[in-house]
Amino acid sequence: MKTILILGAGTGGTMVANKMAEHLDLQEWRIIIVDRDEKHYYQPGFLFIPFDIYSPIDVVKPKRNFLPPQVEIIFSDIEIIQPDDNRVQLTNNQVLNYDYLVIATGSRIYPEETEGLKDGAWHKNIFDFYTIEGASALNRFLKFWKGGRMVVNITEMPIKCPVAPLEFLFLADWFFHQRSIRDKVEIVFATPLPGAFTKPRASSVLGDMLEGKGILLEADYNIMEVDPTKQLIRSYDDREIGYDLLVTIPTNMGDEVIERSDMGDELNFIPVDKYTLQSNKWENVWVIGDAGNTPTSKAGSVAHFMLDVLLENMLRHMEGLEPLPKFDGHANCFIESGFEKGILIDFNYDVEPLPGKFPLPGFGPFSLLKESAVNHWGKMMFRWVYWNMLLKGEEMPFESQMTMAGKWS
Ligand SMILES: Cc1cc2nc3c(=O)[nH]c(=O)nc-3n(C[C@H](O)[C@H](O)[C@H](O)COP(=O)(O)OP(=O)(O)OC[C@H]3O[C@@H](n4cnc5c(N)ncnc54)[C@H](O)[C@@H]3O)c2cc1C
Repeated sequence: MKTILILGAGTGGTMVANKMAEHLDLQEWRIIIVDRDEKHYYQPGFLFIPFDIYSPIDVVKPKRNFLPPQVEIIFSDIEIIQPDDNRVQLTNNQVLNYDYLVIATGSRIYPEETEGLKDGAWHKNIFDFYTIEGASALNRFLKFWKGGRMVVNITEMPIKCPVAPLEFLFLADWFFHQRSIRDKVEIVFATPLPGAFTKPRASSVLGDMLEGKGILLEADYNIMEVDPTKQLIRSYDDREIGYDLLVTIPTNMGDEVIERSDMGDELNFIPVDKYTLQSNKWENVWVIGDAGNTPTSKAGSVAHFMLDVLLENMLRHMEGLEPLPKFDGHANCFIESGFEKGILIDFNYDVEPLPGKFPLPGFGPFSLLKESAVNHWGKMMFRWVYWNMLLKGEEMPFESQMTMAGKWS
């Protein structure tokens, strides 16, 4: 029998396991998936935990529930990948040989990359919301906070879900209004980007929204260190910003196993053909989701758009055919903007987020690059879609490739 080995049973790996089980002859193929953690976290839900909109139990389910019975699941840490020998070693001492390897080990935060970030004040008055522990600790802190200066800082790009810090800011503004302390909280957003977001038009719309909500933007801010004693952050160009509460989006990197296996770039992201999703170096190695270095957003929606291309190309490769360059960098993100409103952006490698309607041209019901209540409900429905459709790799009412229909420039 031949073996497909999938590393990581998060968003991307789970979708691939489901699709492969559906498409391959299981008399001929063995599908194995490995993950260190038995729990599947709905990471977009972490955003809502600090503000009491979701609690931790709303965002976690057993990984097994989402994998088909024909797939072998191994819960273990991965020790090393040896792609020249088509072999993976696990920390439980198992050695797995494969014919095809799919890497879906994602990315995670590394706060230790910034000096002072984890020194003493971590989860006391410095928090992340990219982990369930960070989001829950911040929730406990905010329950009793009376106000002061809250600084939200992105340490460096790329980060997963690049709109999440903006959503956090908009929700914080709403939350402090609800608690009648907005006038006692100064909110500062210190970002390495030249504006609110990466793409010019969206950056201008979102920048205006920050301004309208009285959130101060400190652009081109590249943090060098945190001084937790003086409660300030310092940039490489010597700009100091004091804080009472620091919410950080620490450096995002691929998993250490990628570094141990010498397969990644300086941030442990795996070089991959951005159109075919095949590894640049090993033709039987494919990468889905955040683990690769494709220059698009690191998001669950993107992993879903990658899925069809990855599947088709792997099946073609098994038949001795060339992979097709079909992945266009398509990303689609709801941006929760507070007060039960939201924005939707849809873009790819070449086209920046534009105004319009989605998914039905002219009708919507979602509005692109514009606030609406329907967009908010889309964001809230995403959790149901994630658990019930996306993870199973089910069809969505739109194509993997971005379309210009319904957009105006
Ligand atoms: C706060 C926040 C908000 C977000 N909001 C959105 C949103 O609104 N919309 C959206 O589309 N996306 C959003 N995302 C991003 C989305 O969650 C990720 O992009 C998506 O989960 C990536 O899927 P993945 O399969 O690449 O990685 P993951 O889902 O992270 O899975 C990686 C898996 O690999 C396993 N793993 C890694 N290394 C090892 C190892 N050495 N040994 C064993 N197992 C290993 C991990 O345990 C994990 O299960 C958000 C993320 C965060 C943090």
